[in-house]
Amino acid sequence: MWGRAVRILLIAEQDVEFRMVGDLLKGIQGEVYQLSWCQADVSVLESTAVSRFQLVIWGSVSDPHIARDILTELGRQQANVPIVMLVDEAPAHVDLEAARRGESDILLRTGLDSQVLQRAIRRFARKSVDPQPAEFPTADPLTGLSNRQDFREQLARILDNAETPESVGLLLVDVDQFKKVNASYGQGAGDALIQLIAERIRSCLSAHQRVARIGGNEFAVVFQNVMGSVESECRVSIERIIQSMSRPFPVAQHAIRMNVSMGIAMNKETDVTVDAMLANADMAMRIAKREKGCNYQFYTSDMTDAAQTILKLEAEIRRGIRSEEFELHYQPRIDIKQNRIVGAECLVRWRHPTRGLLAPSHFIAVAEESGLIVPLGYWIIHHACKDLNELATKGHHDVQLAVNVSFKQFQDKNFVQTVANILSKQGITAGRLEFELTETTMMIEGQAVDQSLRKLSELGIDISLDDFGTGYSSFAHIQRLPISILKIDRSFVSSVTTNEDDATIVKAIINLAHSLSMQVIAEGAETAEQVEFLCLNKCDQVQGYFFSKPVIFDTLKKLLGQEDFVDRHIQSILAKSRALT
Ligand code: C2E
Ligand code: CA
Ligand code: CA
Repeated sequence: MWGRAVRILLIAEQDVEFRMVGDLLKGIQGEVYQLSWCQADVSVLESTAVSRFQLVIWGSVSDPHIARDILTELGRQQANVPIVMLVDEAPAHVDLEAARRGESDILLRTGLDSQVLQRAIRRFARKSVDPQPAEFPTADPLTGLSNRQDFREQLARILDNAETPESVGLLLVDVDQFKKVNASYGQGAGDALIQLIAERIRSCLSAHQRVARIGGNEFAVVFQNVMGSVESECRVSIERIIQSMSRPFPVAQHAIRMNVSMGIAMNKETDVTVDAMLANADMAMRIAKREKGCNYQFYTSDMTDAAQTILKLEAEIRRGIRSEEFELHYQPRIDIKQNRIVGAECLVRWRHPTRGLLAPSHFIAVAEESGLIVPLGYWIIHHACKDLNELATKGHHDVQLAVNVSFKQFQDKNFVQTVANILSKQGITAGRLEFELTETTMMIEGQAVDQSLRKLSELGIDISLDDFGTGYSSFAHIQRLPISILKIDRSFVSSVTTNEDDATIVKAIINLAHSLSMQVIAEGAETAEQVEFLCLNKCDQVQGYFFSKPVIFDTLKKLLGQEDFVDRHIQSILAKSRALT
């Protein structure tokens, strides 16, 4: 239909989307497409001549501010290129038909296949493109280095000439936490820092290697060797860059320490495209970024497989939240002085339509990484509050429910306010709800968590420190926070009768907590011997399979109704331990 390759620009945060769209385009018979990928970053778009494309595909851009800036930049370039948007669900405020009558379309990700995409391209892509504006800039004004467009062209030429695999290496260098510098010291300081970093990277390269600035805080270097492997040359430069970053940068009268994350891709095949190289290096860089400090990763194809699995899971979790596939199970907590169930921990489960009931280990980490734990977390808190009210109507007014809260939830600026709204809407009074946080959560988020914890505690929520003993919290820190309960980690409890060191640790934690006027809960007690040890050492509460596995809400209500529930389990143990004390 078109006669030659249709030029399409994809604007998306992640390379996985580039691969997905690329695969769909490959599945279209009889037409040829040339897909370019532009990261969701205004400075990248600035050096992309959008008017040379026949169609823009808009993938995921999660930050609304960035999305707005990108739209402004598209307007500034007066590109008038039709846009096809990929979305998870149809936005309520957009009239799809009206959008289609204009120069744009919205395609749902679910059900998106090659045919659907082909129809949209045929309908919307422009038949001709503007010629490349002659004066389009090739240098980045701030650093004087090549900009993204110029770099792409250089890389394309190098790849075209590459005759052997592994003879071209692309290194991406991304400055970590750069936004924080702009936010704390102002844009001027951020600009100065970029210039200094550019200079430092340049000083780590050999004379024939050139660095380009291809994004706001991203640099790229090409390595080439006509004879074959360039890997060792890459490694030498990377080590030099890491070394050079160890010195602080003098910016705005401060000595700022910065880290970079690096990803490297090789031309494994000789026909690899510029965008595929960029996508591979970008993925490796993102994996390097997960570790603290300066790190690097060489791209391997397993990375793509893993990322695609995660992306699919993310979409499924999003759907699962919408269609209420999650449910709460409850594990009773037994007060071994009063001999009764005094509370329960809420543990989320996913009733997956095809995979059955899934434990948190299958989805919590991905929900945290993608930020989906925030909406899921609100659902959990809301649901726990509803169940608290139902327990009250059955006469169990003083049973406390504990919800696990992860560090990501504290990053939501509205966290405390939203929790306050849920509590007031559900009429939850002080002392009925508890939040369990791990030591890592308290340490990672630092002051922000400290403040939120104080406010949550003022709302009447008790705070417990989960998995205690496995992290690095200092007692001075714990003492300053409104923590009322320590939960001893299962790893100590499970070996308390077989390992003397663990027994000593557990006794020490119990004494310490009591001296700080905190309650102690032992998690994961499975045997009568362990429970006996805990009774003897004056632990306050026990939670574990010995008494009950996590159960559905109806079962929890039944257990609460059984007066002799605890007695049946531990009468003999308690009698023995009481006789001894
Ligand atoms: P956790 O908070 O340490 O929860 C205790 C885990 O230990 C639960 O696993 C529970 O079923 C298990 N457990 C309890 N007693 C015993 C025992 O006697 N023996 C053994 N072998 N295991 C026992 P689960 O439900 O698979 O939860 C795993 C983790 O997932 C939780 O660890 C928590 O970190 C996370 N999680 C669970 N629900 C939520 C939630 O609603 N929100 C968040 N953010 N995380 C959650
Ligand atoms: Ca917990
Ligand atoms: Ca725990």
